[in-house]
Amino acid sequence: MSDKSFLSILTGSFSTPCADNPTVAMIEAAYRHHDIDARYINCDVKPDNLADAVRGAKAMEWVGFNCSLPHKVAVIQHLDALSEAAKIIGAVNCVTIRDGRLTGDNTDGKGFLASLKDVTDPRGKKVLLLGAGGAARAIAVELGLAGTAHITVVNRDPAKAEIIAALVRDNTRSDAAAMPWDGAVSIPEDVDILINATSIGLGDKDALPPIALDSLKKGHIVADVIPNPPRTHLLREAKARGCTPLDGLGMLVNQGVIGVELWLGKTLDASVMKRALQDIFGSAD
Ligand code: NDP
Repeated sequence: MSDKSFLSILTGSFSTPCADNPTVAMIEAAYRHHDIDARYINCDVKPDNLADAVRGAKAMEWVGFNCSLPHKVAVIQHLDALSEAAKIIGAVNCVTIRDGRLTGDNTDGKGFLASLKDVTDPRGKKVLLLGAGGAARAIAVELGLAGTAHITVVNRDPAKAEIIAALVRDNTRSDAAAMPWDGAVSIPEDVDILINATSIGLGDKDALPPIALDSLKKGHIVADVIPNPPRTHLLREAKARGCTPLDGLGMLVNQGVIGVELWLGKTLDASVMKRALQDIFGSAD
């Protein structure tokens, strides 16, 4: 008999639709690179089946799973505990299973923050955040917890922007305000970091969030959450004006790194994961 184990560690993702979610490709590339005997299984889970899927993961002794749309809020009722950020954000995209207990975290904002920290320390910085959906909410809370000075949330529906600004003010030391998005937004002189956290640009290399391009100045950091295509119109305009561009691949990769650290206690090589995504989507450079 061989003493080789034929039982792989199981991880994965529950969402629907999920066929265009590339996370499996980047995480399994890193598992292979590190010779980790683990699998990441991309599962199409409809809302009515979420409870069974969570029970199944627990029964099959998965060590953890990601939750994407539409399960990020609904999964919370099936969990035993939440991280501080997940509690504030009110959404979970990463669940760790240990000794039968399920703990929810939110790595959307943490992944963004890790990527941002490659180019700047957010402490004391002023941020203009475009969008007030799930990604914007997670990013705003993590930026607040990381010590940004001020976040202005800009959205077509200002009531949604105000909910996020209030979350930041009430739960972090950062100040925050909401602003309606009427016409082309001008980037105020004292802003250090502009973030597109809308879905504008997803799958469309020519789409551009309505901003006054001449207000983009050398020294601005311009980040986009859009992973596909990574070289968005906004980032091309920013680079041409001497800003520091930051693509959405970094956010995606770092979420994967943080998730696997929570599940396996191992830090994957981010460059292997980024290359796997670049093979799929192309490069932002
Ligand atoms: P939501 O649907 O929750 O939010 C979308 C936001 O975009 C809303 O604020 C919406 O404004 C705004 N928006 C959409 N179209 C327009 C428009 N034409 N003009 C102005 N605002 C617009 O989506 P999520 O927050 O979950 O995701 C946003 C993007 O982030 C997605 O494209 C997703 O792919 C990406 N993402 C990337 C990740 C990564 O790892 N790189 C991780 C998570 C998300 P309104 O409220 O007015 O409708």
